[in-house]
Amino acid sequence: MLHPDIKEVLYSEEYIKEVVKGLGSQLTEAYEGKNPLVICVLKGAVMFMTDLTRAMACDLELDFMDVSSYGAGMESSGEVKILKDLDTSVEGRHLVIVEDIIDTGRTLNSLIELFKYRKAASIQIVTLLDKKERRVVDLQADYIGVNVPDEFVVGYGLDFNEKYRNLPYIGVLKKEVYE
Ligand code: 5GP
Ligand code: MG
Ligand code: MG
Repeated sequence: MLHPDIKEVLYSEEYIKEVVKGLGSQLTEAYEGKNPLVICVLKGAVMFMTDLTRAMACDLELDFMDVSSYGAGMESSGEVKILKDLDTSVEGRHLVIVEDIIDTGRTLNSLIELFKYRKAASIQIVTLLDKKERRVVDLQADYIGVNVPDEFVVGYGLDFNEKYRNLPYIGVLKKEVYE
């Protein structure tokens, strides 16, 4: 049943499953034998990461990182603070950064700089959603699930004020919910 706060479903549960499966196959091929460290950017990418890594048939390791750039609202601040760092050393490792959505690109840009500084062997980005029109830094994902229009979306890990992460689909909120 559709959540009453959702105006429109952009990507259904079934559609997301297909997209994630496709990304999983591509990553399996790319990372076979490399034992990549798959880094989930909390919390938005959690659902995506758990589904994506189950669609990857190669050996891999998981780790989590929490950075703040959005706070409770809807606009990126440009400043990125580490709230939870990785448990694993990235030196010499092949990194796959998993993101829910790339918007301005600031969050990922800072993470990439950090992991380069820490001497990762390689860094690739996989994002479920890409909002290209909103980019303010020069950053491109290596694997993209779908390109999204410039609308604020929730569901499948994505929140508004910590709500709606558990929706199995991705949708657009009704205006009255955030205004
Ligand atoms: P960026 O640094 O690229 O501007 O911001 C990336 C982060 O902002 C995403 O990982 C996500 O947490 C949040 N974000 C950007 N666009 C949206 C959106 O449309 N919906 C939600 N729920 N979060 C978004
Ligand atoms: Mg995110
Ligand atoms: Mg958020």
